Amino acid sequence: MSYRVSPVGILRSCFKEKFAIPRQPQLAPAARGVLELLPPFDDGSAVAGLEQVSHVWLLFLFHQALEDKPRLKVRPPRLGGNRALGVFATRATHRPNGIGQSVVKLEKVEPGRLHLSGIDLLDGTPVLDIKPYVPYADIVSDAHNAIADAPPPAIALEWSDTALLQAREQAQRLGEPVVELIEQCLAQDPRPAYQTPTPERRYGVQFWDLQVRWHYPQVGCIRVLEVVREAA
Ligand code: SAM
Repeated sequence: MSYRVSPVGILRSCFKEKFAIPRQPQLAPAARGVLELLPPFDDGSAVAGLEQVSHVWLLFLFHQALEDKPRLKVRPPRLGGNRALGVFATRATHRPNGIGQSVVKLEKVEPGRLHLSGIDLLDGTPVLDIKPYVPYADIVSDAHNAIADAPPPAIALEWSDTALLQAREQAQRLGEPVVELIEQCLAQDPRPAYQTPTPERRYGVQFWDLQVRWHYPQVGCIRVLEVVREAA
């Protein structure tokens, strides 16, 4: 038995690669994007009333993690990548039908375009459906999850004078909270848990059209070295 689904829109996101995307939504409020709706949903009538809603559920495809062979067990990065759990006990990207879900903040509604923040989705992600968040039904006050019981602990972050200046300039050019985006994403320490970084080792990621470079001067501390515009 199989069913066909097709996207209602494509997300234009600040995240241009999988590395350094927060592991869940809401962890980086400065992470923004625009969901561009596809025909026939680009007609304003499809979003009529949505301006009364603060948050939406996005159901989407992990389009860069699709696999032919389903996995029964996965090794979530949060557990250091060395503990296997049943696929249905995790929110890992390797899933039977490649479907992700995130609650994100709805900043602005326009015909054919939803402006979102607090996202954890890659640029180009196909969105399959959008549903309003309904607090009375979606907040489960006595819920618990002993595998993921709190947000990942934040690590210390410092800026080189040059990088901070560059980030502020780029924030002005893009009209985006670039300093906050970098701080919120890097403080979650995107480095794979199995890697112990040396101070010499350089890391980098692209946010918007910016290349962000950093290193770990000591364990548990990130220093942002450079924020430069990607060569066209
Ligand atoms: N909140 C969603 C969920 O629970 O279904 C996503 C959780 S998943 C652990 C979050 C990770 O998915 C991000 O850190 C990012 O690396 C990855 N990701 C986001 N969009 C993706 C896409 N379109 N294809 C593949 N991986 C993606």
